[in-house]
Amino acid sequence: MLLKKPIETSEHTESYYAASASWQTGYPEFEGELNTDVVIIGGGFSGVSTAVELCEKGYKVVLLEANRISWGASGRNGGQLIGGLGQSPDSFKRSIGLDGVEAIYQMGDEGVDIVKERIKKYGIDCDLKWGYCEAGLTPRHIRAYKEWAEEDEDIQLLDKSQLREFINSDLYLGGYYKSNWGHLHPLNLCIGEAKVAENLGARIFEQSTVKKITYGNNPAVYTDKGLIRANYLVVCGNAYLGNLVPHLDARILPATSCIIATEPLTDEQIDQSLRKDVAVCDSRTALDYYRLSADKRMLFGGLANYTGLEPSNVVAIMRAKMAKVFPVLANARIEYKWSGLMAVAFRRIPVMGQLRGNVLYVGGYSGHGVAPTHIMGRVLAEAVEGNRERFDIMSKISHVPWPGGKLLRRPVMAAGMMFYKLIDMF
Ligand SMILES: Cc1cc2nc3c(=O)[nH]c(=O)nc-3n(C[C@H](O)[C@H](O)[C@H](O)COP(=O)(O)OP(=O)(O)OC[C@H]3O[C@@H](n4cnc5c(N)ncnc54)[C@H](O)[C@@H]3O)c2cc1C
Repeated sequence: MLLKKPIETSEHTESYYAASASWQTGYPEFEGELNTDVVIIGGGFSGVSTAVELCEKGYKVVLLEANRISWGASGRNGGQLIGGLGQSPDSFKRSIGLDGVEAIYQMGDEGVDIVKERIKKYGIDCDLKWGYCEAGLTPRHIRAYKEWAEEDEDIQLLDKSQLREFINSDLYLGGYYKSNWGHLHPLNLCIGEAKVAENLGARIFEQSTVKKITYGNNPAVYTDKGLIRANYLVVCGNAYLGNLVPHLDARILPATSCIIATEPLTDEQIDQSLRKDVAVCDSRTALDYYRLSADKRMLFGGLANYTGLEPSNVVAIMRAKMAKVFPVLANARIEYKWSGLMAVAFRRIPVMGQLRGNVLYVGGYSGHGVAPTHIMGRVLAEAVEGNRERFDIMSKISHVPWPGGKLLRRPVMAAGMMFYKLIDMF
């Protein structure tokens, strides 16, 4: 597979989402000097959500985005609204105790609730639909669903023929359905939330890259044209942060995922493919994820790779993947394709903590961030307010740097991915 660096500008990537955005943000570039309560780096879900939570509490907030609001993963993702924070919290019992485990399970549900309530409270138009299916390709997947269903009463197990009522494909052995997870238009959610933050008093600046941070009890950030001092700094640049914060750079690995969007499908094509308007993931490590858009396109995503690069023939590869699941779509016209960077943490749970002085950070959602970013934003706002209970639980999870350092971590990760692909095959 030939890989290349995707062409990026400081405007939104050419995705279905950008083409159907409800409005084009046009916040000014930051210039001059400012003092504020909290300055946030990054205008994706993490940064915007933290801004909304802080403004609701009455803080003065400045948000700096290098490109456009939701330019990164938040404006490019699969739009799947899924609970949980990633890795099962039970794996961290030794460092966070049973109360911590319970708190993380609760946060996993709360992320979805925040999205649901915020959309309703502020009337954000982002095509929210409820319903989610996970589809199994191996007996191991099906056994796992049975175990999960014993713990989670919201999981409705589906055998092969029941799953066909949702997903009309020969590929899967069975699956499960959850009515309290769903899907939405992520770019419209994020720009809608930015508007909420602005209306609540946040000052938002786009095309304003933070180039330098000074740490301490009154941290400061520097852009090309200005300087902002604050009581707190919250770092939310995730996979696009580069080396601005070396501690984070060592702990999160930018990985690429790609999505294609077909032309709007006919009723016949929908009946032969995704019959119910639900979000779908399969259970492999390098998974396929897909759903219908509001105008009935198939948005089909996958092809995760740890090079941070994009295959040069994304459309051909993704079309073949989609046709394997839904042969009826083999010749559907592909009208959009795009990719984005997700930030993968070694322990597959968000990386949250505090650097020197009042500098807080979050990132590393490992491909599962639409709902988790919302609860993490709330937890960061609680920490700024002085209520550190949930922040301390999250930051007690130790996040080791990726093995191999800057030079070898990608090959190490690619080898790991190959191992999991083999497990998925057999
Ligand atoms: C293709 C793809 C599909 C995905 N599908 C799903 C899905 O279906 N469901 C799900 O739950 N999750 C999914 N994810 C993951 C999810 O999108 C992310 O976890 C989430 O959006 C992360 O939000 P964020 O705000 O932390 O980061 P981002 O949205 O990446 O935002 C970071 C922002 O910070 C800005 N920035 C960086 N450095 C600076 C700086 N120095 N100064 C100023 N600004 C800066 C960037 O420009 C960017 O806009 C997917 C990710 C990708 C890439």
